[in-house]
Amino acid sequence: MEQHPTYLSDTYHYHASTSVCGVGTDDRGQWIALEDNLFHPQGGGQPSDCGWVNDKAVSFSRHQDGLVVLHVDTDHVFSVGERVDVSVDAELRKRHAALHTAGHMINWVLGEMGWIAKSGHHFPGESRVEFLAAQGALPVDDELKQKVEQRIQELILSGKDVKTWDEAGVRYCLIEGFDAMQCAGTHIDKTARLVEFQIKSLKLKKGVLRVSYDVNHQ
Ligand SMILES: [Zn+2]
Repeated sequence: MEQHPTYLSDTYHYHASTSVCGVGTDDRGQWIALEDNLFHPQGGGQPSDCGWVNDKAVSFSRHQDGLVVLHVDTDHVFSVGERVDVSVDAELRKRHAALHTAGHMINWVLGEMGWIAKSGHHFPGESRVEFLAAQGALPVDDELKQKVEQRIQELILSGKDVKTWDEAGVRYCLIEGFDAMQCAGTHIDKTARLVEFQIKSLKLKKGVLRVSYDVNHQ
């Protein structure tokens, strides 16, 4: 049973006609696996995609034996080899990719200011990145907030390319001008896609700096 993780090769690939490559049941009922899988499963601080198989909502997706499997809101019984039409919720996909990629940019910019990224959470309405101070870290105040926002706006306006590729089974992401990093999330293709970026708050608590932010895809 071979599955192609299509969502890794093109964030903006929303529709496909593909085959069911696996079926089974669990406590949620029937699941299917798709040969060309367009859906990003939750992981790495990024939420799952939403979408449809034959116009029926995909209500759940998860890994099973390394596969992304889907629960489809239908009584139809699927069989291996069956052709299906698949669509990803494009607006949600773009929003998730924008939040996730902006999270990388915040990591980089805060890194330049002496803060080391510790963890990230890129869900709509609650996106945040947490940092620990390195030597010489800039103090947490309104000036730092302004500096970070200004630097991110510069990166957005300069329209840096965002690239991903696979190397010996490891996926990398590179934002032009930064260092390549390992990442299995979905990314925008250019920083210029980002609109309405804002740092909502900077909070320092018990040595952990929490940067809450929001951004949309154009
Ligand atoms: Zn990433």
